[in-house]
Amino acid sequence: MTSTPEISSDGQLKEACGVVGIVSPGLDASPLCFDALYALQHRGQESAGMAAFTNNHITVVKDNGLVSHVFSDAALRALAGSHVIGHTRYSTSGSANWTAAQPVFRSAAGTDFALGHNGNLTNTLALAAEAGIEYTSMLSDSDLVAELMAREIEEGATVSQALATVLAKAEGAFSMVILEAGAIHAVRDPHGFRPLCLGTLGDADAVGGWMVASESPALDVVGATFVREIHPGEMVTLTSAGVTATQLLEPAEGPTKLCIFEFVYFARPDTYLMGHQVHTARRRMGEQLAAVAPVEADIVMGVPDSGVPAAEGYAKASGTPFGYGLVKNRYIGRTFISPNQSHRAASVKRKLNPLRENIEGQRLIVVDDSIVRGTTTKALVKMLREAGAAEVHLRISSPPFAWPCYFGIDTPTRDDLLAAHHTLEEMNDFIGSDSLAFLPLDLLRRAIGLDQECCDACLTGNYPAPVPVTLSLGARW
Ligand code: SF4
Repeated sequence: MTSTPEISSDGQLKEACGVVGIVSPGLDASPLCFDALYALQHRGQESAGMAAFTNNHITVVKDNGLVSHVFSDAALRALAGSHVIGHTRYSTSGSANWTAAQPVFRSAAGTDFALGHNGNLTNTLALAAEAGIEYTSMLSDSDLVAELMAREIEEGATVSQALATVLAKAEGAFSMVILEAGAIHAVRDPHGFRPLCLGTLGDADAVGGWMVASESPALDVVGATFVREIHPGEMVTLTSAGVTATQLLEPAEGPTKLCIFEFVYFARPDTYLMGHQVHTARRRMGEQLAAVAPVEADIVMGVPDSGVPAAEGYAKASGTPFGYGLVKNRYIGRTFISPNQSHRAASVKRKLNPLRENIEGQRLIVVDDSIVRGTTTKALVKMLREAGAAEVHLRISSPPFAWPCYFGIDTPTRDDLLAAHHTLEEMNDFIGSDSLAFLPLDLLRRAIGLDQECCDACLTGNYPAPVPVTLSLGARW
């Protein structure tokens, strides 16, 4: 969920939320949901929440902070019940306060429901205006969906009818979970921008419940078995009696537009997307990079985390030894993110520290997943040189990121994207690397094993769905 797109505060791409829904008849689902959210922590570190249906009402626990901070044993006990949804959040708006945490709760005409959203609607302002709702920065697109659903319910609609009516008008990206009395609905937008998969709890002989989650490792950690991905426009409904599937929204024409950056950067390496394991795809990206952008060097190293498998692939394909050159502080959250350029550069030092003995006097090939503003990459190159690197050759496992994302990823405006206004040579000069090369789009697709298109709008400017006119200046769509 997001409200108006704003500038990423540390120059890195930010995922915008993970969702979970679990029905485990006869068992409390909140401990399972906790583990699943923990596995999706990378998708949002700003706030976390759960909503449980218990004793004929919905209880919501949510707060700012990491999953492990938000849910104490007492909180999990308060969330007793066999039907639970969960959410991890990264906001792309200024409203990073408690009220923006999810799930969003509404009560309308005696019907309670809670909603968790991964994605970003692109026609939020139009939807709000049509409904006569003043849209402020404190209101998220997820709040708006919940409010519009509540109005439908007050007119006599069921939760799923309200969902169908409201989402039929929504544009953009949404993978949502919705909890109501005795049921969880999970729905994916007609393009399938953000991932969402279905699994079973228990073994094949004794299904012990059903589960949906943004990524397959959330199923793995609770012992659930992956069944399939939710289709674009599809809604699955989980109840104690089982699972039903409905084509709630007409799927968009053409292939699924899953975000290609889920493969490059966002998703966990052990996640399967469209049948492809992300780690394998990243390794192959490195192999393709080595073939298309070779350079003589002493060591290949990756920028943790997603650059590491790509570096392994580059090393294997090029015959250059693989090594570790950077140690990542895994406990940096949003706390230290500063809003201006100088602090942004300094934040690299908080996140990464060089292994001097592996770097000193060495000609380095440094593999990273993307360059957004260029400021963090520039700071990284400076840090490696200060650690004694003789040469720094940057290899990026995706094409230049030249267009903003409107589909659930926090990116700077086009003005702030380095690749939008600079040639390869200018980018290399700005960053201070000895050489710079990107993986071309056709080779990225080949590395993933895609026989169909994904969304690649941030690389091509070809937006598969409408984006607001005020936001799409210069977009080729
Ligand atoms: S524009 Fe880029 S980041 Fe956004 S959904 Fe498409 S591929 Fe992903």
